[in-house]
Amino acid sequence: MKVKLQVMKFGGTSVGDAFCIARTAQIVAKAARENGCVVVVSAMSGVTNRLIEAAKNAQTAKPPEARVILEALKNQHEAALVRLIDSEEERGRIRPKMEEVLAEGRRLCEGTALLRELTPRALDAISSLGERLSAPLIAAAINEEGTASQAIEATELIVTDAFHGGAELQMELTREKSQGRLRPLLEKGIVPVVTGFIGATAEGQLTTLGRGGSDYSATILGAALDADEVIIWTDVDGVMTADPRLVPEARTIPVISYREAAELAYFGAKVLHPKTLNPVVQAAIPVWIRNSFAPERPGTKITVEGRSIGGGVKALTAIRDVTLISVGGPGIVGLPDVVGRTFSTTAEVRANVLLISQSSSQNDICFIVSAADAKRTVEALRQEFEQDLAHHNVEHITADSNIAIVAVVGENMRGTPGIAGKTFNALGREGVNIIAIAQGSSESNISFVIEEKAVKTALMTTHREFGLDAAPS
Ligand code: ASP
Ligand code: MG
Repeated sequence: MKVKLQVMKFGGTSVGDAFCIARTAQIVAKAARENGCVVVVSAMSGVTNRLIEAAKNAQTAKPPEARVILEALKNQHEAALVRLIDSEEERGRIRPKMEEVLAEGRRLCEGTALLRELTPRALDAISSLGERLSAPLIAAAINEEGTASQAIEATELIVTDAFHGGAELQMELTREKSQGRLRPLLEKGIVPVVTGFIGATAEGQLTTLGRGGSDYSATILGAALDADEVIIWTDVDGVMTADPRLVPEARTIPVISYREAAELAYFGAKVLHPKTLNPVVQAAIPVWIRNSFAPERPGTKITVEGRSIGGGVKALTAIRDVTLISVGGPGIVGLPDVVGRTFSTTAEVRANVLLISQSSSQNDICFIVSAADAKRTVEALRQEFEQDLAHHNVEHITADSNIAIVAVVGENMRGTPGIAGKTFNALGREGVNIIAIAQGSSESNISFVIEEKAVKTALMTTHREFGLDAAPS
């Protein structure tokens, strides 16, 4: 009897070359001695980007360039195969599988070039090739470690709707299929190596879960199989108290709650795909973030209850590629529908609104959107308020991109007085000017807007103020 069932996901850098794949295979083989293991893999690092480039080349009638990319990917995977697998016979078993995937890629690019049209469906098919190439390679490497393993395409397991490029999960069907396909393998002691990132509609049409979606694939399978834990193996030690490139004293957080991790994922600490925790929260399946380059380190455990710490602050995060938009002027006081019209406009242009702040004098509404959404948002607002601008009811609609959002995150901040005070005191002392502030009523996140050039100072100061570099978090 195996002790527990683990789903382990290995990201692109953890399978980036033959050397990394070998280390990954050792981690899996070791775990599989005690536990049932399902492995989920990303494409080798950079491969998905290259495939998307090939697809775009094909679309703009540059098929030779697409072919060159596919040829390079073929060589890259062949080189890894030769390094990982000693026996020519075994190589001869894997090669045709990879060749089949590559041939499909060539046909898809040719079709795209012919039509000069890249449909979302074709883009999904092309961008999924990287996982379909890496999975057989990694399964072979695990076999090489003496642990039986088999590559499985997630189109056989994960059922989604037909929204290409970011499909929605259908959990009940996924559960049925995953149990039916993977349980028998696990019972025979075989480690399934599943392609991350990919799903299929109930009719069998391939879809993808969105960029970085392999994390999500892992938790989907974890929930579908009632696994005991999900381990996301990556190239960092876990969730950190702040970005270590900006705050050298940043530390790995040993235990963090689902809610805190989700706040951080949302606010730009790009450790996890934002949907990753959705499938496992209800069943309370713990998720670990661990470093495949330093497997002896414990990593971060994400669970229902993070461990409580004195001050309540767990981590800091910053997002820089954002723009502050403000709609205002004394004339808007008493105009009843300015707020409504502002946000129905942002919704119409599908701008992602990250933070909203309005003073009670109602002189001004300001909010933040991703920099990529800023231009079309401002244009749409100017159109919406054209009459009001002409009549000076609305004095200005302005955009400022030299700003950043910093968020102070921690579930136990709820009901702990003084956190905002401490934060803003410390920032004041260091001369960091606060442009806008927002705290949701969940109280697990205080966000503030500052000038972009002050981000490093703001993070360092707050990090020190809450003792995140020292106290066990
Ligand atoms: N290979 C996909 C991507 O690069 C999915 C993943 O790595 O999670 O987006
Ligand atoms: Mg990734």
